[in-house]
Amino acid sequence: MLQAALDLGGTRIKFGLISNGQCVVTSSLAIPSSERFATVLPLIEAEIYRMMRESGFTRLDGVGMAFPTIVDSDRMRLLYQYVKYTDANDLDLTTWAKARWNATLVMENDARAALVGEWQFGAGQGVDNLVMVTLGTGVGSAALVNGRLLKGSHYLAGNLGGHQTIRFDGKRCNCGNIGCLESEASSWALPEMIKRHALYAESPFAQGEKPDFEAVFRLATAGDPLAVSVRDHCLEAWAAGILNLVYAYDPDRIVIGGGVMHSAELILPFIQQKIAQAAWLPVNAVQVVAAEQPDWAGVLGMGYLGTTKKGITVFKI
Ligand SMILES: [Zn+2]
Repeated sequence: MLQAALDLGGTRIKFGLISNGQCVVTSSLAIPSSERFATVLPLIEAEIYRMMRESGFTRLDGVGMAFPTIVDSDRMRLLYQYVKYTDANDLDLTTWAKARWNATLVMENDARAALVGEWQFGAGQGVDNLVMVTLGTGVGSAALVNGRLLKGSHYLAGNLGGHQTIRFDGKRCNCGNIGCLESEASSWALPEMIKRHALYAESPFAQGEKPDFEAVFRLATAGDPLAVSVRDHCLEAWAAGILNLVYAYDPDRIVIGGGVMHSAELILPFIQQKIAQAAWLPVNAVQVVAAEQPDWAGVLGMGYLGTTKKGITVFKI
């Protein structure tokens, strides 16, 4: 049983060949952000053929693709022409996979794929109530409840943790809402947040320091007042958002990934302590842990979903 599992990110597509539950080979391709999916598909096809050839496989049973948008994983369609690969729905990918390899296609949202990857192969092993949050360019999320990947009527359930309102009088988000977790604390929102800060003119950022989280955490540790203020704002925002997800999905464990986790030693205890203060939870009810498969969770998750029934819901009960 061989699966080709793909995680289609913003600038890179990651590939894995999964044979009987083991990832036997990985690879990745850089893709210009302007590229249309019609142009990318032949590259994907060639890469899968190359990996199969070099690993000695001649037969492919399934192809799994994780997309960075909302995905109808029953009909294998993208539901929002948003972010990237806006022409993917013009192509019938189910027919493509069938015609090339007689393989079954499964598609899923990338955060759900990453959650399944961590659940089966990473920091989420051993629990069936799990929330995954990625803190990076944006804020992604997914939820597993009673061993079931949560999807809802419109495939949104658990996916929009980044667009929950945490400040109703906050900043306008790129989704149209006001005060989303993502517009309050994410890499894309950070440069504007720093530039509009009252202390900007006296800060190292006005002297050319790059406005990213690496600099914010480094300068905050050194005592720069703007960096301390922005760091603390973001920590409070992430903690508020994650506590909301705890109340929404009642997990045993929260797995946090994303680029910001280079500062995990500061972020994890802060969030853990905020959750510990919440009155409705038993003591130590929710563990807050770092992702263990930060680069390959999406690929591993798609490989797993491709081998379970239709890749739709995963029941363990
Ligand atoms: Zn939003």
